[in-house]
Amino acid sequence: MTDVPILGEPPESALPAEPGHEGKGEIHVVHLYPREMSIYGDLGNTRCLAARIRRHGYTPVVHQHHPGQPFPEQAHLVVGGGGQDSGQVRVEADLEVIADRLRDLVAADVPMLMICGMYQLFGNAFITVEGKRLPGLGILDVTTQGNEKRMIGPVVLQTEFGDVVGYENHSGSTTLGAGQAPFGTVRSGLGNNGEDGTEGARLRHVVGSYLHGPILPANPRLADALIGWAAEVATGRPFEAGTLDDAIADEARNRQVRRLVS
Ligand code: GLN
Repeated sequence: MTDVPILGEPPESALPAEPGHEGKGEIHVVHLYPREMSIYGDLGNTRCLAARIRRHGYTPVVHQHHPGQPFPEQAHLVVGGGGQDSGQVRVEADLEVIADRLRDLVAADVPMLMICGMYQLFGNAFITVEGKRLPGLGILDVTTQGNEKRMIGPVVLQTEFGDVVGYENHSGSTTLGAGQAPFGTVRSGLGNNGEDGTEGARLRHVVGSYLHGPILPANPRLADALIGWAAEVATGRPFEAGTLDDAIADEARNRQVRRLVS
């Protein structure tokens, strides 16, 4: 199988920084399991991060991590997407192999964005609708039970990054452990379980969420929070943001908010 192309470049290639902004440093982005866990456009998160990192004047280096491969030496930002239950089964064994490395990165405040299927696997366990128990990393204190009825539709959340919009499609119903902070509060949609008004989970710089879309292009504040944390880890200096024009993203997000929440 060929590699999933990221920005038309071969994996592990560096894109040059925006002219006039060279020298802020490299930011290494690791995309976990792009073949098995990247549905509903989640690959767009990696593309969005690479483009924004470059526009902020840093040099993005994108690594694709596939099952059985050594984990990249440098990792300043880690992303994972959604997948079928069968895709989750295919990455389970490798996830166990890289678990300690991921835990160390979390403890070092490396930012991570885990969507849907990978969000579930960052939790304690995902029990499929057939009753198969897939143990998770336990980084986020959440547990997910698969159901016959799927939760599907557009979502608006209230979060510390402002309104966040996206699209959910999951059979898993997720429960937060006592003391586990959610990523956001549901303004429209179903979220973790359709009952308690929570969506996703947040620990240190790890964000877990069900939101596809992909989530980052329409929510640049969230993208820049992840990039800002990654820049600090990568360079040891505060994030130096560039000036980006987000008018189109803001318009798209505001339209979804207006359409769903009035
Ligand atoms: N298989 C999981 C579920 O349906 C994850 C789905 C997804 O990642 N979109 O709950």
